[in-house]
Amino acid sequence: MNDDGIKIGLETHIQLDTESKLFCGCSTDISDGPNSHTCETCLGMPGSKPRTNGKVIEYAIKASLALNCDINDMVRFSRKTYFYPDMSKNFQITQHEIPVGEDGELKTRLGNHEKKIRIKRLHIEEDPARIIHKGGDITSSDYTLIDYNRAGIPLIEIVTKPDFRTPEEARRFLQKLTKIMEYLGIYDPSSDLSIKSDANISIEGGERVEVKNITGTRGIEKALKYEITRQKNLKKRGRNIERETRAYNSSQEITRSMRQKESEAGYGYILEPDLTKLEVTEEKIEEIESDIPELPDKKRLRFMEEHGLKKEIAESLVTEKELADDFEKLVKKHDTVLTANWMTKELKKTLNYNDLTYKQADLESEWLSYIINLLEQNEITGRNAEKLVRRIVEKPEDPSVIVEKEDMLKADGSELEDIIMEVIDSNDEAVNDFKKGEEGALNFLVGQVMKKSGGKADPRESRRMIIKKIEK
Ligand code: ZN
Ligand code: MN
Repeated sequence: MNDDGIKIGLETHIQLDTESKLFCGCSTDISDGPNSHTCETCLGMPGSKPRTNGKVIEYAIKASLALNCDINDMVRFSRKTYFYPDMSKNFQITQHEIPVGEDGELKTRLGNHEKKIRIKRLHIEEDPARIIHKGGDITSSDYTLIDYNRAGIPLIEIVTKPDFRTPEEARRFLQKLTKIMEYLGIYDPSSDLSIKSDANISIEGGERVEVKNITGTRGIEKALKYEITRQKNLKKRGRNIERETRAYNSSQEITRSMRQKESEAGYGYILEPDLTKLEVTEEKIEEIESDIPELPDKKRLRFMEEHGLKKEIAESLVTEKELADDFEKLVKKHDTVLTANWMTKELKKTLNYNDLTYKQADLESEWLSYIINLLEQNEITGRNAEKLVRRIVEKPEDPSVIVEKEDMLKADGSELEDIIMEVIDSNDEAVNDFKKGEEGALNFLVGQVMKKSGGKADPRESRRMIIKKIEK
């Protein structure tokens, strides 16, 4: 999909992880059922006054700095006027004239090729209410439900320049963007906080089409692929690609025309008169900057340099801040290569299988240290170590208790010898076959030993001992 002059720009809304809404004290917790967290301000009642949640401004500055934006020296809000039941004030409070941050960039990687995506702006705005069209879509539903719990929830909107050439690039960008927000502690991917993007897509010779409401990082690639194919097909048939706004339907994976694109003037922006301008001082910016942790790219490079890790392993460790932090804790006590390999392979495989992030799995780093130590001391077989990880991921519990309870340590010399003698004595046929030179018979005997030991026998050691016993 690299030809046809494809240009894609994204406007991504990220819901910030705050306790209360942007302009009132209502809780952002939406788990209590519809319309349970509302007040006169987020319901837009006449005479109600907004007041700004300072945390949101701090978070927006933090995000802007992490994306290398210039920070404007004041925060101002504007009214974006439109008529729709999801915004009962008939306007959305957003930032139009002056965003928090401008002119940033984010580097993403696709294979070995690095790409710089320019960030046009980052601004704060409130989320509208949630609208549910029962029994159909906006034109065909029987009735419509509105939940104002979401009205006034804080979002940051990140607008890129049209720098993407493929849907894959857009997906990589979103993945990286959300990872950074997670590192900053302003977004939590394991919660139900939302990420929604609108995309502007054009191909050579066509007008720009805006596709609205693409959810998450997975949806973006599908939605863009569909829309590019649609535009290419129009072009092939010699038809015009007109400027319009389309909606993405994620269940059908198609885009559908909503309206001809409205102009900015149509929103009649005015500065929000109920909110005064807030100054952003150099000191404030410095204070926020000093609070920004080491971000994934830097951390990856440092891991490669400081711990001598391969790029892929370092990359895999920094996908989650908590995982990276615990790696650094563990590597102080344990072998670097063993620890890195074990965490990125066995541990991550088990987490993926259980559809959990490292943070969600809630494992104590001492537990991991205990398992790594058993591996280092050669006291547990690979098979039982795997079993142990599965157990603590499925149900968090001190692994030393499990090992004790289930007698999972490697069979030591005499115990292993007993098992091997038992297997040799009760498998005459296989023993004779092996003496005749059949390699398969030996594998069978090793298998029997493994089975009898309940995974405690080391296969290599067993093999060696069986040969020794039979050849005696
Ligand atoms: Zn409220
Ligand atoms: Mn917006």
